[in-house]
Amino acid sequence: MTQVYNFSSGPAMIPAEVLRRAEQELCNWHGLGTSVMEISHRSKEFIQVAEESEKDIRDLMNIPSNYKVLFCHGGARAQFAAIPMNLLGDKATADYIDGGYWAHSAVKEAQKYCTPNVIDITTTQGDKRALLPMSQWTLSKDAAYVHYCPNETIDGLAIDEMPDFGDKVIVADYSSTILSRPIDVSRFGIVYAGAQKNIGPAGLTLVIVRDDLLGKARKELPSILDYKVLADNDSMFNTPPTFAWYLSGMVFKWLKEQGGLQEMEKRNQAKAELLYHTIDSSNFYRNQVADANRSRMNVPFQLADSALDALFLKESVDAGLHALKGHRVVGGMRASIYNAMPLAGVQALTSFMTDFEKRHA
Ligand code: PMP
Repeated sequence: MTQVYNFSSGPAMIPAEVLRRAEQELCNWHGLGTSVMEISHRSKEFIQVAEESEKDIRDLMNIPSNYKVLFCHGGARAQFAAIPMNLLGDKATADYIDGGYWAHSAVKEAQKYCTPNVIDITTTQGDKRALLPMSQWTLSKDAAYVHYCPNETIDGLAIDEMPDFGDKVIVADYSSTILSRPIDVSRFGIVYAGAQKNIGPAGLTLVIVRDDLLGKARKELPSILDYKVLADNDSMFNTPPTFAWYLSGMVFKWLKEQGGLQEMEKRNQAKAELLYHTIDSSNFYRNQVADANRSRMNVPFQLADSALDALFLKESVDAGLHALKGHRVVGGMRASIYNAMPLAGVQALTSFMTDFEKRHA
């Protein structure tokens, strides 16, 4: 079989070593004669998975002790509702930085619970899409918190600056860039992410929340979205997504073995540079994002002649390069190159792109 590299934006690649290990122990986990999916989340064996995974992600991200790590359901979209309902308190507004599709989706959900102050940071640099730097974000005084999305999965737009806004509560949707590089968690009130891109299988959502933000939820908030309820119950208020949690825990161990987030940052930088370089050095391909906002995780690109899109997609699949079709709102192609994508996968893609260009330019 041809080696397959999967460029899906999510659910996305999981490290091959992790999948192999899961396969080996699937039917007889820890000698129990059963799989991890079939045991109680309250069993001592699963509690060990839960505790180790929390310790490992705390180590990896250097999470300060005054933060809780919650293992939730519902994806990032559940958090679009949970965040205003947990954090607004008696305030009627929150600042929402709008830089792309997902930031905008968070605004639409928040409108059910408050009147978001929407701060449009989209701009252009020449003919490229760009986002205003944090120094130009005009925040309001009466906002309960500031929400932004550091990596727009669909648009391929990234905000890599670390926020520095005094005592404002900063909430960030890290769904498509968590664990791709070190970040300073202490700058945030909440960091959250759906698992299915850079953590593990779909079904699990991580919420890293500062202690002082717990216990302010509106009464009508469903208990399952209440951070205090989840924290008080060690993320086991109801049955958690145990298999996704277990597998994500294995990814955390894999990340530690690889050298942690510093090493991931180096690898991700090398992969992204190679791909952007291939795009920039040709007139056949183009990426429409200004340098400062280019995502290292999701690289959208267009063929100069979109009539070749279908052929590009067919031939790429034949070459073992899967899921390169761009999101329908942007069109063209998109290569998602999260932690689990090896450099060899990006090399295979760039060789294919160069070869395709030679044959069709
Ligand atoms: N935020 C971002 C940045 C995303 O990429 C996605 C999923 N593509 C979401 C939110 C929505 O996530 P979920 O499907 O887990 O609700």
